[in-house]
Amino acid sequence: LDPETFARESRAVISFLAGYYRDVEKFPVQPEAMPGGLGALLHDTPPENGEQMDVILEEVWRHIVPALTHWQSPKFFGYFQANASTAGFAGEMLCTGLNIVPFTRAASPAATELESIVMDWMGKLVGLPDRFLFSDGGGGVLHGSTCEAVVCTLAAARDRALSRLGHEGITRLVVYASDQSHSTFQKGARLVGVPRSNFRVISTTAASGYGLTADSVREAVEADVASELVPLYLCATVGTTGLGAVDPVRDLGELARNHGMWLHVDAAYAGSALICPEFQHHIDGAELADSVSMNPHKWFLTNMDCCCLWVASPAALTSALSTDPEYLNNVTEESAAGAGVVDYKDWQIALSRPFRAMKLWVVLRRYGGAGMRAYVRRHVEMARWFEQALEADGRFEVVAPTRFSLVTFRLRPRRDGDDDAVDGLNRRLLVAVNASGRAFMTHFVVDGKFVIRMAVGGAMTEMRHVQDTWELVRDKAEEVGAVLK
Ligand code: PLP
Repeated sequence: LDPETFARESRAVISFLAGYYRDVEKFPVQPEAMPGGLGALLHDTPPENGEQMDVILEEVWRHIVPALTHWQSPKFFGYFQANASTAGFAGEMLCTGLNIVPFTRAASPAATELESIVMDWMGKLVGLPDRFLFSDGGGGVLHGSTCEAVVCTLAAARDRALSRLGHEGITRLVVYASDQSHSTFQKGARLVGVPRSNFRVISTTAASGYGLTADSVREAVEADVASELVPLYLCATVGTTGLGAVDPVRDLGELARNHGMWLHVDAAYAGSALICPEFQHHIDGAELADSVSMNPHKWFLTNMDCCCLWVASPAALTSALSTDPEYLNNVTEESAAGAGVVDYKDWQIALSRPFRAMKLWVVLRRYGGAGMRAYVRRHVEMARWFEQALEADGRFEVVAPTRFSLVTFRLRPRRDGDDDAVDGLNRRLLVAVNASGRAFMTHFVVDGKFVIRMAVGGAMTEMRHVQDTWELVRDKAEEVGAVLK
């Protein structure tokens, strides 16, 4: 690595990206890209001799950018947003530029300590009970994704239960989630050896805003206990993927405690809103949970990837995930003592890991709590505006309460029995909106109904983009024949 070349080429990349952000609003949010299209444009084999950076960037601009879905477009409202920001990028540059590998404290003391500090900062910001903070015996770690974090908590819960039941007990362990919980819980349960038949998907209804009720979980748990199965793990979601629904954390926490279950609170998306006091009631009862997670890489101005996982008992996690290869042992006296030293390799699946703490720390330093709260509130306000526009129009129904910045809606049937025809209309509406290139949304299906999701939360999204998108939805509804008024 030659520092002069490094500086020159990095400047070229930054200027390329600044140009991209200047223009990103002009691109169709979703490209019309035929499968295999890129293969036809690029060479079959890598170059034998290195090429100049400007040639490479030119090719990125000409061949790759036009076939990207522009997640950073202010008119991207699909899935959940993946925020990029100046501070997120600066933090990522520092992380990538320093390129250290803090798997143990000895492998990079400041990186490990910064991660623990940042996790306590974030825990305080989202209003977590003290038991999740290092300062109070708990602690946190930065993972790449909620999916990885969930597998780790499932492994910890499994080992805690099996230390009581013996290894043969694994066939009796049961995991509970709702029909709105993220699919990662099912995958994670499989990965840690819970039999497929022992994963309970508990139904939710419109009456509870698609949140779980403690009664429905209790019924399932009691039936399992009567069959000599062992309740292991319960997932409560604050802000579900499809509809933004919220499970009652306190009620589920009490139930989990009564049955010795591990309670995980998944706030992957809505965790960012929890920094505002007006949203913190959604995690009332979190002191009853064993673990909590949220993704700053969604709605917290932190470039991919970054997931916060907090546990009340770090020992439960590390006893499931620790390894002790000789080559990682520290020969200095300080860490030979071991006690109290955080080795993050024992809090995750992989050994190697990036310096994510740097990125989140830079974001927190640059924007501060007040800046982040204002950011979240702006999106919530835009989402409410969109929801009100839908309601005032009369042709649309809002499917689940808009608790954060996700609006779920559909053209409503005019008469009972119109559901199939209306589903077809809603599909055509979504296709027409996305084909226009002026906005991008995704869908969900609940109670057999096709629902359109408008997830507001892009770092460059302003009210004018939301207003323009409303006009687009209205026009396309006319176009697809929604004369259901
Ligand atoms: N949980 C919820 C509620 C989510 O919305 C998502 C992703 O959208 C996930 C988990 C998965 O997150 P990740 O992609 O970080 O694994």
